[in-house]
Amino acid sequence: MPDLLVVGSVALDSVATPFGAVREALGGSATFFSYAASFFTGVRLLATVGEDFPREHLDLLRGRGVDIASLQVSKGRTFRWAGEYGYDLNEAKTLDTQLNVFADFKPVLAPELRRIPYLFLANIDPALQLDVLHQMDERPRLVALDTMNFWIRGKREALGRVLAEVDVVTINDGEARELAGEPNLVRATRAIAAMGPKTVVVKRGEYGALMFSDGAFFMVPAYPLDSVFDPTGAGDSFAGGFVGYLAATDRVDAPAMRQALVYGSVIASFAVEDFSLNRLIRLTRQEIDERYDAFGDLTRLEASPR
Ligand code: AMP
Repeated sequence: MPDLLVVGSVALDSVATPFGAVREALGGSATFFSYAASFFTGVRLLATVGEDFPREHLDLLRGRGVDIASLQVSKGRTFRWAGEYGYDLNEAKTLDTQLNVFADFKPVLAPELRRIPYLFLANIDPALQLDVLHQMDERPRLVALDTMNFWIRGKREALGRVLAEVDVVTINDGEARELAGEPNLVRATRAIAAMGPKTVVVKRGEYGALMFSDGAFFMVPAYPLDSVFDPTGAGDSFAGGFVGYLAATDRVDAPAMRQALVYGSVIASFAVEDFSLNRLIRLTRQEIDERYDAFGDLTRLEASPR
């Protein structure tokens, strides 16, 4: 049984960026998360797809070792999301969200899942996130959550209830400002921590990531890339690296959190180099470790001896 469980969306994404477009490509918050986390640890994916979901996508997840035993095929159509980005790739513009099979999804945790020590509530209806958390027999060692403007606007009350019960929240800078109702990011981050989570991770796209944990701030830059094609999935891949690393090392102390923030940034930096999961599919563990070291070099004050 894996140590990490994720509930979230599995989607068919139609995305346009200034550098190209894809139609109905594999996407979804739980998809990117589980694929990214699988570089570090075993992960069970809890979600639903429709009868139209291509079989090759299931094979891809299975091939990477993602445990899809709890990925249910429901009557109806798969969740679909359409979005576009301008030259400022930091902000996705949602063109269309079709919940489809997620509209009536009632996740049921099999008994063996109710004691999993690491739980990630990926971007999905906060009512579902709370429902999954409440089905756990034992409080996991770490519960992390991600959300977005669609739910901040549409399900704020349910979101507030689930936020009160989680340890870590990962959120975009724009969404952090919206959730907190506060334009200053430092104040917004503190305000979100006051809603419950002891650790708040703010993803800032090409500007890196900011973590507020136990009253202290920590920051990492983004890896300087000269080819960014599609930011879709960057946030979920980030979270997959972050939580996947913590689950793999079974540590949630402050140094582990800092290392996890770098691993999250490393995975996200690869995810944006191609559309859908295409870059992650070609990714190797060696590339991850090399880029982790390169992150150290980015901010070291004394030049490293070479
Ligand atoms: P991100 O990692 O933040 O870029 O998230 C991208 C993924 O979120 C896409 O693959 C979408 O399928 C998924 N997504 C978009 N909107 C929603 C939503 N309202 N609920 C759940 N997942 C979504």
